[in-house]
Amino acid sequence: MEKLMDKDLELINRAKEVIGKNYDKDKFKHTVGSAVRCKSGNIYVGVNVYTVSGACAEMIAIGSAISSGERDFDCIVAVLGEQGEEVLPPCGNCRQLLNDYMLGGDVIINTEVGLMKAKVQELLPYAYCVEG
Ligand SMILES: [Zn+2]
Repeated sequence: MEKLMDKDLELINRAKEVIGKNYDKDKFKHTVGSAVRCKSGNIYVGVNVYTVSGACAEMIAIGSAISSGERDFDCIVAVLGEQGEEVLPPCGNCRQLLNDYMLGGDVIINTEVGLMKAKVQELLPYAYCVEG
C-alpha cells in the first residue's frame, strides 16, 4: 500500500463536498459520496442512489466519468456521513466493479495505520476477471 499524496487528499475533499451538498437527513437515501480521478486528471463525483438493490456512490461516480467519455481510472474514494467524515472501503459488489473497470488503479481505504492507497486487485484476490 502507498501513502496518500496531495492529489489524493483533493480527491477525498471532492467526495466530502458532494455528499455534504446532497446528504439526505430525512430518508437517508443519499449518505455516501464518491470521487474518482481519471488518468486524464479529471475528477468525477457521485452519491449513492438508494434502492433495495442499491447503487453505490462509486458506481455513480464511475458512471458519470464514463458518460463524459472517460475510460481510464487512476484512483477512487468513498466517504460516509453528513460531512463525509468516514472513508468507507468498497463493498463486495463495488470491488468487482473496480476490478472490471480500473484494474491496476488505487482505492483509498482506512487501515490500522491511517488512510492509505491499496491496489484494486489487493482488495479482491482471486477475482473473476472478464479480460482473463
Ligand atoms: Zn458498493
